[in-house]
Amino acid sequence: MTTSIRRRRAALTTGAVAIAASLALAPTVASAATPADVAQNGGAARSIDDSTQVLLDSVDGGPAKNVILLIGDGMGDSEITSARNYAYGAGGQLPGIDALPLTGQYTTYSLYKDGPNKGKPDYVPDSAATGSAWATGTKTYDNAISVDVDGVPQDTLLEIAKANGKKTGNVSTAELQDATPAVQSAHVAARSCYGPDTVTQCGADALDQGGLGSISEQIIGTRADLTLGGGAASFEQTARAGQWQGESLFDQAADRGYQVVRDAAGLDALASADQSEPVLGTFTDGNFPTRFAATTATVGGADLAPQTCQPNPDRLSTDLSLRSLTEKSIDLLDDDNGFFLQVEGASIDKRDHSADACGQIGEVLDLDEAVQAALDFAKADGDTMVIVTADHAHTSQIVDSTPPATLSTALTTVDGTTMKIAYGTAAAGGSQQHTGSQLRVAGYGPGAANVVGLIDQTDNFFTIANALQLDRDLDGLSSDATLSAPSEVAPEAEFDVTASGLAGDRQVSAVLDADGAAAAVDLGPVDVIDGVATVTVQAPAEPGPFTVTLTGAQSGVELVAPVSVVEGAVVPAPTTSPVPVDPSADPTTPAGALPGGGDAAGGTGSGPLAFTGSEALPALALALMLVASGAVLVLRRRRRLVATGELGSQL
Ligand SMILES: [Zn+2]
Repeated sequence: MTTSIRRRRAALTTGAVAIAASLALAPTVASAATPADVAQNGGAARSIDDSTQVLLDSVDGGPAKNVILLIGDGMGDSEITSARNYAYGAGGQLPGIDALPLTGQYTTYSLYKDGPNKGKPDYVPDSAATGSAWATGTKTYDNAISVDVDGVPQDTLLEIAKANGKKTGNVSTAELQDATPAVQSAHVAARSCYGPDTVTQCGADALDQGGLGSISEQIIGTRADLTLGGGAASFEQTARAGQWQGESLFDQAADRGYQVVRDAAGLDALASADQSEPVLGTFTDGNFPTRFAATTATVGGADLAPQTCQPNPDRLSTDLSLRSLTEKSIDLLDDDNGFFLQVEGASIDKRDHSADACGQIGEVLDLDEAVQAALDFAKADGDTMVIVTADHAHTSQIVDSTPPATLSTALTTVDGTTMKIAYGTAAAGGSQQHTGSQLRVAGYGPGAANVVGLIDQTDNFFTIANALQLDRDLDGLSSDATLSAPSEVAPEAEFDVTASGLAGDRQVSAVLDADGAAAAVDLGPVDVIDGVATVTVQAPAEPGPFTVTLTGAQSGVELVAPVSVVEGAVVPAPTTSPVPVDPSADPTTPAGALPGGGDAAGGTGSGPLAFTGSEALPALALALMLVASGAVLVLRRRRRLVATGELGSQL
């Protein structure tokens, strides 16, 4: 049967994804089995021909324009094998996961946070430490969301890709606050800091404690172009501090320009996902329901009649399957600048914890479909790296005979034989444990050769950052920022101050400081959109100099506009400050760029500050394009200030 040998052999090559996909099974009932010739010489072989040329053809040094990283949470070798056995047969292949041409193994250990072993390997990690590892390149402790062992936030691939002008997406079948999606968009000490109401879990990370806020609030602030998954419940919570105190997080997202969608129709209707109108899509309050109904493992369970997996009646519609979400995400993110997209199949892990064999198998098959979608795009695009891996290994084991004292389940596979799966790390009703084994990591496309061999999970960060040629110095990406503002304004006039070139920042803080006023006026944080932040300001009533200072929340870059209130002044075209101010720099920074430097401009109406049109015009054009969302934001803020009397008294 050379035909079937060739078929399987060909599927090892990247050019054969379509062939492999044709072997896909119906979603609930296995319809094909291991070929009958596995008993023949070479009949079970997967690579009977010489592979050298195929492998050589698979190696492409890059760079890559796009990267799609697919994570099967808890998807160790055992979980992949049992899913393959069940749905495609022992001699079959998963058409997505098994089709990637370049494979390696990676170590996943985490680090101890405290005590005499601080910083030493903890051999069995959780999803927080492991996700942080590939998201940031820094190993850390279990429970950490993209902070190091000392709690210091580490820049993530998503944040860095965004700062480099890539579009970004984050998709999961879990709650979006769950560790794997959270590691790309948040920095907290404890993974359970989901929303404003998780007060105890958030501790010092809470906004009202001066922290960066809960995971949900940070997801909004990080502003990926697209974020899709579960976890709506936390976005229903109400901010306890900051600019949006008293508002639900969903309302906050809408106020900040997001397209908030809650169902398949809303997702289907989306035509764009970008920084002006990013997408926040949540389709369940918690995690997505699984593809298959749960099975219950029991002591001696593998001796019972073997089962077949049944569809879960609660499963979301197929237009919200992980494959559909992946396809929609690619459609929305694909553009000339490229994108970084992370996709997680989350409940392989969760069902493994619950000793639910059919549950975990269905989630592997779901992820496999998403991998097929990613490979289909990458193959057609030619400039996309796809990496498929997991975060940590897990409990389930395919065993030969029913274990005497631990939980087990028997399933009838597509081969027509019985597969016994055992769960040996917790008693009935308990949570099965993660395990510390190394994991498969597989790649396709430019840069993917870096997955080959034995690597560490943190290598994934560098493989992706290098393939996309990302500049990881976010402070540097904001260091050439400029600020434009009028030099003179009439008393109480409204005017815009626009900072541009702030690619390394996601927000700026804005402060108005008038000579003689009792205190500076906090104009609140403002989102940086495509490197630009615009603050609409109302001038003080009293003639004289004042300053508006914008400070990059991430870079610390400080930009100061000296402005004068002059009776009868007409707001002129904005000007550009010549020098951004580094707060750590020598205090002899040129006059006119420091707070108080506004004195230099005087109150005598010397006209607009000099500026170079080549610097200012692009910023102006961008500012005009963004005026709709920016103005709404600032006006909301002003209404609140007026309402509380702050603005009138200070200005
Ligand atoms: Zn887990």
